This record gives sequence, structure tokens and C-alpha cells, in this order.
Amino acid sequence: MYGTIRIERNEQGKAIPAAEQSLGFGRYFTDHMLLVDYEEGKGWHDPRIVPYAPLSLDPAAMVFHYGQAVFEGLKAYHCVDTGEVRIFRPDQNAKRLNRSNERLQMPLLDEDFFVNAIQALVRLDAKWVPQKKGASLYIRPFVIATEAGLGVRSSSRYLFVVILSPVEAYYDEGLKPINILVENHYARAVQGGIGDAKAAGNYAASLKAQALAKEKGCAQVLWLDAIEKAHLEEVGSMNVFFRIGREVITPSLSGSILAGITRDSIIQLLCDWGVPVTERKISIAEIVQAYEEGTLEEAFGTGTAAVVSPIGSLLWGEKQMDIQGGGIGELTQKLYDAVTGIQSGSLPDSRGWMVS
Ligand code: PMP
Repeated sequence: MYGTIRIERNEQGKAIPAAEQSLGFGRYFTDHMLLVDYEEGKGWHDPRIVPYAPLSLDPAAMVFHYGQAVFEGLKAYHCVDTGEVRIFRPDQNAKRLNRSNERLQMPLLDEDFFVNAIQALVRLDAKWVPQKKGASLYIRPFVIATEAGLGVRSSSRYLFVVILSPVEAYYDEGLKPINILVENHYARAVQGGIGDAKAAGNYAASLKAQALAKEKGCAQVLWLDAIEKAHLEEVGSMNVFFRIGREVITPSLSGSILAGITRDSIIQLLCDWGVPVTERKISIAEIVQAYEEGTLEEAFGTGTAAVVSPIGSLLWGEKQMDIQGGGIGELTQKLYDAVTGIQSGSLPDSRGWMVS
């Protein structure tokens, strides 16, 4: 199974975006990609790093028809303390990818192989890791079903791919609060479904509501549970946190919520700092009540892309609720600074989150 990773170098190489050029998100891709094949009976085999190029797939490949596609997202940073390139918590992405694989009836990957293969790819394309403050190399691993066939069943062949993209800091001019629409009609996920997997289909399900929120001047939607439309789940493709009085609350992982790695990191930091943090069901009615009583102090989303994203206002039907007067809460800023400080190497990594 697996074997050593064969490397076919991209001798030409592409032009790396200049330091003053805006990188955006997922616009540029590096010189190489990692590929590994899976075949029933043979397992994962032929791991190789090859020049970045289009994939050739049969039009009947099952991924196009029945959606067996899962992915991950993590980042490598150029660290300011030693100049090394380090990756944030890749072991956690390996575990989550396997939970997604398991849920979609796809083959599991060896978690050490996942981390080692990503390290090898990042090392080879290390010159693509941006050195600008807050910028990083976004790592996108994914698994797709490649067997040709139109019967509805799980594929017998898969491809594991990792591509890399240098990206700008989400907030390159400091944190900026976002307006959020509480979504009363559409649902992202339901208990028993695939919301707790990082499955491509979840993102397709979210796009219509996202577009409608934009029309109303909101950056993202706040997803409520699909059945009662009462309890909070996630904000856009981020986990969500509220500070009510002194207590920080985030929805518990109910089965329809993705277990964010940033979410877990934030909970650990809050625990270390002695800030009371609770994972529990939280309803929109409770948020409205806290707002009315003046105890809704802060709200923010967490995810790999933005790290911490302050919520400036919530729009629920006709009701507009401004938080921190549309400004940035003290704890929100402190958490952002702490996580990005560890990632950039400007703060000590006492938990061993960074892997070089
Ligand atoms: N929820 C969803 C639906 C997401 O797509 C993401 C981004 N991966 C998150 C939450 C946050 O997860 P993480 O902190 O691991 O990026």
C-alpha cells in the first residue's frame, strides 16, 4: 500500500505572483500537485508529486453523477521566528477527512501518510509560501470517485489529490465586522445527513441562500437547524460563537455541524485563559433575548480562511441586531491575535499545533 512518493519535477515552473500583487483566495496554484490512486482490492497506491495540470477523467466518473467528493482546507505559513514553513494542525485535517470518507462510503487514508505527503508537497513548492504578513499557502486535499459507471453505489476507484494556492490574509487591513442574515427558509444540513462531513455537496446546498443574503446586503447566512428553525448551527462556512455576559457559547456538534479545527483551537484557548466556554444548543430566541437585555456582547465566526470573523449585525426577518455597535469585541480581537500569532510564529506554540 502507498509506497514511496515518486516525484516528477515541473522543470519550467510558473511565475510566482510578485509581493505587491494581490493574491486573493484560490486564484493562483503552485507548480506541483500530489496524486494517489485507490482501487478496490489494491488499496491506495502510486503516490506521486507531478506538475500541476488538468486531470483526465471519464465522463461517467461517479463523482460527476452521485457526488462522492470530500475535501479539506488547511494552511502553511512562513514563520517569522525562524523563517521556517509550518503547517497548522494537519493531523486534525487528516482525522476529519477520514470522518468524511467514512460517512460518504469512501476509503480511509492513512493519517500519517496524509501529513507526510502534504509536508513533502509543501517542501517542494516552499518558494510559493508568501512572506507577506497574514498571507499563507492554502492547502486543498480532496478525494473523488473515479470509477466510470452510472449505477448508484459507491465507487470502486478513487483519486486523492492535494493542490496548493498562495492566498492573501482574509483581513489584510485588520478585522472587519460582517453583516449576517439569519436564514429562515433554506437549510444547509440536517441531522442524519452529511453536514458533519466536509462533503462537496454541502457547499452546493448553501449557494442559493448565500446569493439571496448578498442581495440583502449581508455577507453570510446564519444557518438554523433544518427542522425547528430554532437553533443556531453555523455562519456561512464557519463555526459560530457568541459571548453573552461573561459566558462564551458555541453550538454543540449536533450531527449537522462541521467540527471546525479553528473552533477546537478557540475553545482550547478560552479554557486556558479561564474564560467560561460552553458547547450547547443555543436558540435564536435566546440571542434575541440577550440582545434585548443588552447582554449580547460579541459574536464571531471561526474557520481556516478568516481565522476569526467578527459579526457586526444579525438580520432576522425585519429585526436588525447590531453587536458591539458594529465594532469589534475585545475577546474577538484577542482570539484573532492569539491564533494568528501562533500561526505566524510571533507567539510561542505551547500546544504543538504547528508542524514543520
Ligand atoms: N463549517 C464549515 C461548513 C466549513 O466549511 C468550515 C471550513 N472548513 C468550518 C466550519 C470551519 O472549519 P475549520 O476551522 O476547520 O476551517
